Amino acid sequence: MTETRIKSENMRTLAIHAGEEPDKTTHASAPNIVMSTTFLADADASFSAEDFGDDTPFFYSRWGNPTVTQLEDKLAALEGAEAGIAFASGMAAVTALFLHTLKAGDHLIISDISYAATAELSHNLLPNLGIEVTRVDLSNIENLRGKIKDNTRLIYAENPANPILRLTDIEAVATISYERNIPFAVDATFATPVAVRPLSLGADYVIHSLTKYLGGHGDAIGGAVLGKKSDIALIRKNIAIRTGGIISPFNAWLIMRGLATLPIRMKAHEEGAFIVARFLEEHSKIKRVIYPGLPSHPQHDLAVRQMKNFSGMITFQVDDGQTCAKIFSKHLKIIHYAVSLGHHRSLIFYLPTQELLRTSFWLDDEQKRSFEEYAGDGIFRLSVGLEEPEDLCKDLDNALSLL
Ligand SMILES: *Cc1c(COP(=O)(O)O)cnc(C)c1O
Repeated sequence: MTETRIKSENMRTLAIHAGEEPDKTTHASAPNIVMSTTFLADADASFSAEDFGDDTPFFYSRWGNPTVTQLEDKLAALEGAEAGIAFASGMAAVTALFLHTLKAGDHLIISDISYAATAELSHNLLPNLGIEVTRVDLSNIENLRGKIKDNTRLIYAENPANPILRLTDIEAVATISYERNIPFAVDATFATPVAVRPLSLGADYVIHSLTKYLGGHGDAIGGAVLGKKSDIALIRKNIAIRTGGIISPFNAWLIMRGLATLPIRMKAHEEGAFIVARFLEEHSKIKRVIYPGLPSHPQHDLAVRQMKNFSGMITFQVDDGQTCAKIFSKHLKIIHYAVSLGHHRSLIFYLPTQELLRTSFWLDDEQKRSFEEYAGDGIFRLSVGLEEPEDLCKDLDNALSLL
């Protein structure tokens, strides 16, 4: 671990300085990129990850790399975690966490709505490995207690949940998971540590897709798991080194460069999202807008209590989503019709509810009802970027006039 010279509690200072220090050899102010795959070793260095420890020097970049370590230390500082480990993607991070906490015969409780690949992974691969999975609407804490079993080994929530922006009361889930001695993980990709720091609310692990807000510029895929030092060391030794889903130092460097401006970007994302969400809410063609910062969000009270920033994600509905998606994809000039989120460029994508239910979410009738009540029929997921919000409203207004 790089010792951070800066001992600040302030997110803006940490985002810039944590994990980094001027290069000792060249005195370079900005971090170097160390692309080397291998490092000169002592004659008695072990060839096996079995002997890997905290004080093992850099040896081979699948084990650890100076640039990646800087990123991991910066992320840990921002989340208030003891340690962190970066991966090639958010999904590699989710997979590593599952493999670390679950084995055949164990039981996982996961939010019934989550990022499509996470939902699909928990529906397909985990049961094939002999892991039992129960999907629970974690926005209502009452749903959780009855679902916990003696073999439950992980509770996994996404907050806010992609794509419907449903929230989980992290402190409330953490209280239950603590009572029952079950690790609790939160995918905090949509919130970022600027909005919510799940570890400080009692969670054991935080997951990030670094591809989204943390990298922030749409040019590097990455992921991370943050948590206790002992857990992260085991994830590195048992999973990362052996399954190999590690991040490239170049991507780590890009993401670190993005992280430096995370706190000020999140402020601007939130400011823009408020303006665009209010504009949409008043637009005659828009049926419904969901944004945690608006009083109309079904869990606005929880949002106000739990989030220091409402982030830049909005979902909304129109009468004929499919036609509107076609118009948006052709006629939006500034906002890109594309997946992903959290970039400086605004992005929008249409998710038809029935498609989501067919491909990604396997819900019982009650969960389906609750999903449809929350998200309606057809979801536009808008990631408000850092452009002038007025220009975004005009872009949407022009396209909507063709509907
Ligand atoms: C994008 C995303 C992921 C997956 O991350 P990748 O970097 O695309 O692998 C996981 N969780 C959430 C909430 C996401 O939005």
